[in-house]
Amino acid sequence: MKHPVALAAGDGIGPELVEACQEVFQAVGAPVEWVETPVGRSAVARFGEELPWSSLETMKELGVVLKGPLIAERLSGGAIVRAPNGTRVHPSINNGLRRELDLYCNLRPVRGFAPVSGWYSSMDLVIVREVTEDIYSGIERSIGEDCAEAVKRITRQASRRIAQFAFEYAVRYGRRRVTAVHKANVLHKTDGLFLQCVREVAASYPGIASDDRMVDAASYYMVKDPAAFDVLVMPNQYGDILSDLAAGLAGSLGLAPGANFGEKTAMFEAAHGAAPDIAGKGIANPISLILSGALLLDHLGEREAADRIRLAVELVLAEARVLTPDLGGSATTRQLTQAICLACEKVAA
Ligand code: ATP
Repeated sequence: MKHPVALAAGDGIGPELVEACQEVFQAVGAPVEWVETPVGRSAVARFGEELPWSSLETMKELGVVLKGPLIAERLSGGAIVRAPNGTRVHPSINNGLRRELDLYCNLRPVRGFAPVSGWYSSMDLVIVREVTEDIYSGIERSIGEDCAEAVKRITRQASRRIAQFAFEYAVRYGRRRVTAVHKANVLHKTDGLFLQCVREVAASYPGIASDDRMVDAASYYMVKDPAAFDVLVMPNQYGDILSDLAAGLAGSLGLAPGANFGEKTAMFEAAHGAAPDIAGKGIANPISLILSGALLLDHLGEREAADRIRLAVELVLAEARVLTPDLGGSATTRQLTQAICLACEKVAA
């Protein structure tokens, strides 16, 4: 039986990456049936809005989504959702999608690959980022023309929920340590509450080591000694920044997969944005979305297909012959995808 999966190709390089991921799924015979649920600019062309209610409904009904990156407007905007019970405005399209689907956790496993990641080849860490609150709640206001402020909101319920997710993830995937990242020496109330919640939850997991790092020190040690980290759990903004830092250390945003989890729905997407600077040129690195696809297959219980994909990616990167420009090569998205598909067949043999 095939698993129905909602598919949103996204903007910019999104459609190129989604096509690559679909080809790799085909190469490993992943039993998935795609159901199109457009959001973003392609949805505007078809439905006149960025987050059509029909797409959101199908995503919720199917519970599993593969999504290409979306273009978030820089200085203006907010994403509007016209729900049957009223209109809602969210700070950005990505934030809107997460809120509408009730997704509270953004998971970003970042690992290095030899030889393309150089000194960071042995890095293997997982960032667990809370995505419903913190300074990204969208509670902002201008005070006159020369001042503006934003609210950093942290709640016990959301902090405990994300901590629980991090420790459960550690148990399920054989990880040994969970590190809380915060700035509780300055933000005593907000980050202090977050840290306290992680410590409380940690007490229920005696088999998993736990500690904490200030966000500035965590950044330093991530660059100096990434092997010191295993699973890291943190509020929204630190997670946003540190996961891009980790991807940069691994060698490219194009290597970094991601997933978002809620109680009922899971959405899988690359860690990067729509990269408009290279969209349509056929040179985007598809590995980020292909590895997000492997996470999706893990979630569906198709572990063997997921492992084959991960092994194939590792093989192709180890050979370092077919690499896209972000990794220092001159291969196209298609050539790298074909190399990974071929490697999937080798891995099976
Ligand atoms: P956003 O605001 O949505 O994060 P952005 O343009 O700031 O968008 P990205 O889209 O993530 O950030 O791109 C940052 C840089 O990384 C760009 O130069 C982009 O070309 C590059 N990049 C991102 N993803 C890939 C990829 N898959 N392959 C190659 N280069 C990539």
